[in-house]
This record gives sequence, C-alpha cells and structure tokens, in this order.
Amino acid sequence: MDLYEHQARELFEEHGIVVPKADVTDTPKGAREIARRLGGRVVVKAQVKTGGRGKAGGVKIAADPAAAELTARQILGMDIKGHTVRRVMVAEPVDIAQEYYVSYVLDRAAGRFLAIASAEGGMDIEEVAASRPDAVARIPIDPDEGVTSAKAAEIARAAALPPQTVDVLVRLWDVLVREDALLVEVNPLVRTAQGQILALDAKVTLDDNAQFRQARWGEHGPCEAHLADEAESLEATAQAKGLNYVKLDGEVGIIGNGAGLVMSTLDVVAGCGARPANFLDIGGGASAQVMADGLGVILADPDVKSVFVNVFGGITACDAVADGIVRALDTVRLTKPVVVRLDGNNAVRGRTILDAHRHPLVEQATSMDGAARRAADLAHAH
Ligand code: GDP
Ligand code: MN
Repeated sequence: MDLYEHQARELFEEHGIVVPKADVTDTPKGAREIARRLGGRVVVKAQVKTGGRGKAGGVKIAADPAAAELTARQILGMDIKGHTVRRVMVAEPVDIAQEYYVSYVLDRAAGRFLAIASAEGGMDIEEVAASRPDAVARIPIDPDEGVTSAKAAEIARAAALPPQTVDVLVRLWDVLVREDALLVEVNPLVRTAQGQILALDAKVTLDDNAQFRQARWGEHGPCEAHLADEAESLEATAQAKGLNYVKLDGEVGIIGNGAGLVMSTLDVVAGCGARPANFLDIGGGASAQVMADGLGVILADPDVKSVFVNVFGGITACDAVADGIVRALDTVRLTKPVVVRLDGNNAVRGRTILDAHRHPLVEQATSMDGAARRAADLAHAH
C-alpha cells in the first residue's frame, strides 16, 4: 500500500526526520488559511500517489495566502497521470542549497535491501540515473545488520552526500523497519541555505502483509479510512469480503475464476481494443454469494461501462455462478450491460438459469473471444 506524501512525512516526523511545517486541505479556502498560519509564502503540493508532480504542474510556490488559494484552486481537480488531485498539502517554503536523492528498496532477487543515493537529486533523478549511472550509488544492505551509523556513513561517502545526512539515513532505515515498509524514498532530501538537512518529499510503500501487526494502519495511523479515495475504498470493501479486486484504468469490468483465466481475459479484452477497468478473481469453488458480492464491487466502479463475466466451471459449477448473478440482480440495480460466458462444469444448467431470468442488460456468449468483443463493443457504445 502506497502512502500519500503527507502521510509518509508524518511517519518521517515521528522518527525524527526534519520536514517542513505543513498541513493538508481539500479546499482553496483551506489553503489560504494554512498559508496565513505558516506566514504567507508557501508551496502548494498536489497529493496523489504518483511521482512527477512537479513536472506536471502539481507543485507550485505561492507568494501569499491569496495566491495560495488561487494556486490550490488550479491544482485541486487536476489530473496527474490518471490520478485526480483531491487534496493539497500547503507547506512552508524552503531555501534549497542542494537536492539529494535517498531511498531504501527491497531487492527481491538478491534477498536484501538496497540503498540508492545521489548528490544530484531532484526532479531529474531518472535522467541522471540513465545518463550518468556513476552519479547514483547503490549499496546493498544486509537486513539483519540494517543501517548502523557506520553503514550510513558508507552510503553517504559512496554518494558524496555531506556528513550531516548520516543521521537521516539511520532514521530512514528506522522508518522502513519499524513501520514495515518495502520502500522509503526521499527526493529531494535537501540542504538548506542555513545548512539544515530536510526531507522535502516523502514516499513510503507499506508491506500489506504486515497489517496484522500494525493495528494503527486501520485506525488513526497513516491510512485513515477517510483518506481512501473511491478506488481504494472499493478495494477495502472487496478485501473485507475476501475478494481479490484490482483497479485498472480502462472501461470494461472483468470477473473471472482463477488467476490464469482472469489474466488471459484481460489480454483478450485488450486484444479487442478495449481496456479493463478492473478485475476480480472469484477463485475456485466460488459460491453464489461470492458472485453476488463480486458483481456489486465491479458495478460500483464508476469507470465501468460494461462487465464481462468469464467463468470456466471446474470446482466452481456454472449453475452456482448463474445463481449468484441472479441473486446479485436482486440486490444491485444494474445500470450497465453484463456479458456472461459460462463454460465447463454445469454450463448448460447455468445458461438455462440466466436465460430464464431474462434480464434486459444481461446477455450470454458461448465463446471467450465473442464475449470479449461484445463487452468491448458495449463499453464503447456507452
Ligand atoms: P515530485 O515532483 O512529485 O517528486 O514532487 P516534489 O515534492 O519532489 O517537488 C518537486 C520539486 O519542487 C522538488 O524537487 C523541489 O525542487 C521543488 N520544491 C518542493 N518544495 C519546495 C520548497 O519548499 N522550496 C523550493 N524552492 N522548491 C521546492
Ligand atoms: Mn519528489
């Protein structure tokens, strides 16, 4: 689970990493008020879970509270790489003398963590890494030893970071370990004109597998429920019902049974010139209830224009799936067309159940290709 910058910086702060004073709001008026409190001149920053906000115009300096309000009005609602900006962070501006790049990432192949650091941080770090790889140090970290002061000094030396960054490097490791993160990244970590070291940006990816021992994730911690946007709350709903739901950015909703079938369904839909809006794997042995829950989740996604239910009955019998669809139609008001392809175990019985129900928005197809083409056409006709 990725955190928003303002959530990640909260974790940094708790671990003693210095960050600029800031607050979050979802209105232009709120931005003006925060700017007033912070002394007038501020940086207004889009809060979206993607990088490159600066280059997209999502990070702007405002000279006074009135300008902060205006800037927030421009940034709120902006689309950055498919993410709608719903909140802005308003922060005290910092006088930057130098920008550094620092991150710890899990190196799965090596079974270790990796420190990546550079004295040439900032918005062009990808270019620096591509054109001059020597300017970016990559130091393996033994997870059992972690980042001690000595290790931090080694990282700083390798990346030509000033000695004052050693303390931050140790604390950042602390964030990774104590908060169960898979990634922590600071770009830029800056030295101010006054010689202070500050984290000006914060990126943290938490390890979802650690949820059981991080009770606060669900409550007041970095992932408060009210911060979840639509897609995420759907993911949470699906998770609570034991469903594997993933949000994508197209227009065809996809339900299938089994990871393999779902993956090939995505491919076939893409092959028909449409893009999957999401997918949900109801798994093997899925009951009518699971099908009903799944359809409810998929239909709640506003991006969905049509739904493709692709089931190959093995352990899951197609008549149970058909029963689930019929049951779902009783509870969910269907507003989008659904194309169903049932094959395998009890397919004929399943098709008969759906035929008998005669819902005007539900149609059946006998082949996977035919069904995908139909779902794509329906999505585009919408
Ligand atoms: P990103 O583009 O999504 O990584 O967003 P960042 O938070 O890293 O901001 C982009 C750039 O804006 C940074 O690399 C800085 O150069 C600049 N920036 C952010 N905050 C401040 C600030 O307080 N003062 C100044 N002068 N520049 C800032
Ligand atoms: Mn950044």
